[in-house]
Amino acid sequence: MREETRRWIAADKRHAWHPFTAQGEWTDPGHEPLVIVRGEGPWLWDSEGRRYLDGNSSIWTNIHGHAHPAINAAITAQLDAIAHSSYLGFANPRASELAGRLCGFFPDGTLERVFFSDDGSTAVEVAMKMSLQFRMQTGEPERTRFAAFVNGYHGDTMGAAALGGVDRFFERFRRFGPGVDFVETVAQLDPANLNAVVIEPLIQGVNEMRPWPDGMLAELRDWCDRHDVLLILDEVMTGFGRTGTMFACQQEEVIPDFLCLAKGLSGGYLPLGATLTTGRIYDAFLGGPEQAFYYGHSFTANPLACAAALASLGLFESEQTLERLPAKVEHLGRLLADLARDHEEVVEVRQRGLITGIELREGLGLSVCLKAREHGLLTRPIRDTVVLMPPLCVGMGELELAVGAIRKALAEA
Ligand SMILES: *Cc1c(COP(=O)(O)O)cnc(C)c1O
Repeated sequence: MREETRRWIAADKRHAWHPFTAQGEWTDPGHEPLVIVRGEGPWLWDSEGRRYLDGNSSIWTNIHGHAHPAINAAITAQLDAIAHSSYLGFANPRASELAGRLCGFFPDGTLERVFFSDDGSTAVEVAMKMSLQFRMQTGEPERTRFAAFVNGYHGDTMGAAALGGVDRFFERFRRFGPGVDFVETVAQLDPANLNAVVIEPLIQGVNEMRPWPDGMLAELRDWCDRHDVLLILDEVMTGFGRTGTMFACQQEEVIPDFLCLAKGLSGGYLPLGATLTTGRIYDAFLGGPEQAFYYGHSFTANPLACAAALASLGLFESEQTLERLPAKVEHLGRLLADLARDHEEVVEVRQRGLITGIELREGLGLSVCLKAREHGLLTRPIRDTVVLMPPLCVGMGELELAVGAIRKALAEA
């Protein structure tokens, strides 16, 4: 191991604390964490000079690849102008342009306002608080309950965590948040005092990449309309092409009352969240200071992040990202079907677009991912489901390498 790698790991183990990590295991002298130092396209390099395919898009964030010249140039140009200015009391050019671009994906008179924040959790917090205040300002203050789906994931800040349906993460904190009904199907929803329903459309991520049945999202929109319940779509993972369309909700022609975006919004380059909403919601906040939405973060609408987001949206056009997806989605599906056929350790393959979960027999998830590293694929399991969710720029050969690495790892594990 290189001397500097040794130094970085020692400092990490002495002073840093990692997310969702059993620190006792992390700091064990036998654990040698990878130190990622560079990226290019769908590839990552560690401090020892080893190259890996970024098999989970750096936790579901990266879209067009790392160090993309167009995104780097947009960030650099913005950096030369100004890195950050306050959005409290001032506008900034990149945020103005980005708000317009985001609303432009939806029909006129639907989602037409963008509230910026910092990440996926805060994009969900914004939707929660906005929906509650909307009820207060439209004569229904008793509608304070939320409904969420069992095993759903919406982030880790206190409000978003209260909506989290994954017991092993959220059970201990849920009682500190708002009242939430957890359901498994639309039929189980109860409209009494219900303010809003939140869902990860088309596929649940943290729940081991589990797709919803076709038509379920449209059915939910229908139910919400009938009971005047607000629909919050958490597209933090599914947004920006992951499921094959720019946004997952477009596949069932559903327009939510709130659309939460983050992760891929900036191409996965910088933290940025956005909550889109309708004129109906927005209008309830017009008027004097008593009607204002008292919410914001210091780095709201950060110009560097907005510049990265605009460049990322530009690449969807110049690189025809969505047009080139179906062939990749199909190729990956075929490779995984072959894998499942050849290895009885594969329990199930689940796929929506370029999001896949490969469920393995119990106890194999982590060991297969660690072995796959030695064959050039970097990813993480969720329990025993290996997540394969490469950046959308991935090539056919790179998909073959990724599935080949899992194949070799399965043979060895
Ligand atoms: C990652 C994720 C979040 C949380 O986003 P952060 O940027 O990590 O706060 C919320 N919802 C979904 C569906 C996610 O995948």
